[in-house]
Amino acid sequence: MLAMRKWAVRNAGLLERAYNALAAVLRALRPFAHAIGLERLERPLAAAERAVKGFLFDCRMCGGCALAVSGMSCPMNCPKQVRNGPCGGVRADGTCEVNPHMRCVWVEGWHGSRKMAAGALPAAPNPPVEHNLAGRSSWLRVIAGGDDAARAAPAAAQRAPASALERLMASGAFVVTAEFSPPDSADPDDVRARLAPFAGCVDALNVTDGSGANCHMSSLGVSVLLLQAGCEPVMQISCRDRNRIAIQGDILGAAALGVRNVVCLTGDNVANGDHPGAKHVGDLDAVSLLATARTMRDEARYLSGRKLAAAPQLFLGAADNPFAPPFDARVVRLARKIAAGAQFVQTQYCFDVERLERYMARVRDAGLHEQVRILAGVGPIGSAKTARWLRSRVPGVHIPDAVVARLEGAADPREEGRRICIELAQRIRGIPGVAGIHLMAAKQEHLVPSIVAESGVLGGRTPLFGAQRPLAA
Ligand code: SF4
Repeated sequence: MLAMRKWAVRNAGLLERAYNALAAVLRALRPFAHAIGLERLERPLAAAERAVKGFLFDCRMCGGCALAVSGMSCPMNCPKQVRNGPCGGVRADGTCEVNPHMRCVWVEGWHGSRKMAAGALPAAPNPPVEHNLAGRSSWLRVIAGGDDAARAAPAAAQRAPASALERLMASGAFVVTAEFSPPDSADPDDVRARLAPFAGCVDALNVTDGSGANCHMSSLGVSVLLLQAGCEPVMQISCRDRNRIAIQGDILGAAALGVRNVVCLTGDNVANGDHPGAKHVGDLDAVSLLATARTMRDEARYLSGRKLAAAPQLFLGAADNPFAPPFDARVVRLARKIAAGAQFVQTQYCFDVERLERYMARVRDAGLHEQVRILAGVGPIGSAKTARWLRSRVPGVHIPDAVVARLEGAADPREEGRRICIELAQRIRGIPGVAGIHLMAAKQEHLVPSIVAESGVLGGRTPLFGAQRPLAA
């Protein structure tokens, strides 16, 4: 099967031409099919489709074929069910975050797309799978005309900033956000106790949602507690643990409680967390979640089309990883996230400024830095051992050998890690198009004040947290 999948990607241009010819024939048969009755054609067409596409693409009969927009690499073979890849967890050798023995289907898809007419994966977001169509024929939808509908994104709505963070980013200030780890506790004081290192040195705190696929207090609950403490929260939502019904309900509940900044994530691999037997839901992916949240905000309706009595006010963010292959696909994926609604992105840890500079050059060439605010991820590493662990065990984290060697040769590795973080933040601040930094200092939060102060990233500005109360709920 893997051999056929590789063949299909290598011959994506040929298969695209064959599919276009087939689609033309199917459309020509539309009057006859309607005369016979579409339901009567369902079973024989599905059987034929299963046989042909099962052989060529390892097709899972999802009922909404995306081969034409995924480089002829079936996205349903992605273990995280990502329909808008490649995700940020691709390993350095191009293999899958979840299954290191398999090349990422979206890396394959990227290469396949280069052989197709468009020459790249499209920027338009792929919609999520409709699970009620599983097993049904996509070809029949072509005959019926269901593939003709344009997937036009709604026009960007003119609206007031949803949050203090959005207002700050719109002002052009160099922004500082940081990661906040929810406790394993039901006591709100355990949340408040963790806030002290951030007061007076960050603009907002990202509340992780089951980071690393480990269970903690919910991002929604912690975000509300931060808001009550006068801190601007950025609520992360992972598609890993909830389906579209639960997520949309959480978005409404969060907005009703005053949480306006949302970062949409696909989610880490369940097998790496503390509940490896849990199910990866993956009903949406980061891009379709962004599109869903934007639809709720700008069109006041659910993904289903049902109307909302009051639309949530949201400032929408996403993650990005300029340091994972395929590097030339990363800007295309950023464009797709922007098309889906991303207004700001926070990147994976940056330890390789040259690679970030190359990525930002491509971003500027595409004009994307004018459409989205980009915050580069930085963080202190306490030892060479931790650096090695991070780059070998956390997919998508790239740490050059020079950084590991510097930590290894230091008399005080913890201080050296702090110094490296400061230097990185200073260099990143000078890259055109970078709008801020996102500090990730898990278990080293006490270093955040000195990193912010000594790097000078705030430029003498008073940050949001500790300076003013965020928007009232
Ligand atoms: S996208 Fe769906 S229909 Fe197309 S090959 Fe994959 S599983 Fe089959």
